[in-house]
Amino acid sequence: MTHAAEMEPADPPISITKELAEEFFTSLNQQHFEGKLPACRIEVSARLVRTAGKIWPRTRLIRLSRSYHELYGPAELSNTILHEMIHLWLFEQNLPSGHTPLFRQKLQEVGLDNRMKALPVPPRPYRYLYRCPTCRYEVQTRRKINSSCGHCDRVYNPRHRFRLVKQLTES
Ligand SMILES: [Zn+2]
Ligand SMILES: [Zn+2]
Repeated sequence: MTHAAEMEPADPPISITKELAEEFFTSLNQQHFEGKLPACRIEVSARLVRTAGKIWPRTRLIRLSRSYHELYGPAELSNTILHEMIHLWLFEQNLPSGHTPLFRQKLQEVGLDNRMKALPVPPRPYRYLYRCPTCRYEVQTRRKINSSCGHCDRVYNPRHRFRLVKQLTES
């Protein structure tokens, strides 16, 4: 891992990548599990937006929300990975791998206190930008719509039907 980013004067946004997540996994494994946890496949997902992370211990897959961690940053990325690793640690010992008392105990040992839940999950990102052809009023939506502009007519009127301007890139 290079520490070049730490020398920047400003606070540059650190992009949440699979590589960064893998580095956290490796160092957390050494730090808290004597390096004994099996390697996992890690995915940083643009589609996982309702939760910070998920683990499938049987298939050794960890999926992390990109939007959540871009919002909360690398320290929280490390927290999420560590949380998922405790699930894996229990699973590897053939113990129930949910949020059991032993899970909580380990959570405290590793310094995550009782952080069982993720921080507030940001709203689902807007995906579409629509514009009224008449008054140019713009709306951003999460799904496709088939309605007309309420500023131009209180009831549905195809003349003022919102037109798709563009699809917004999901972050
Ligand atoms: Zn959990
Ligand atoms: Zn309008």
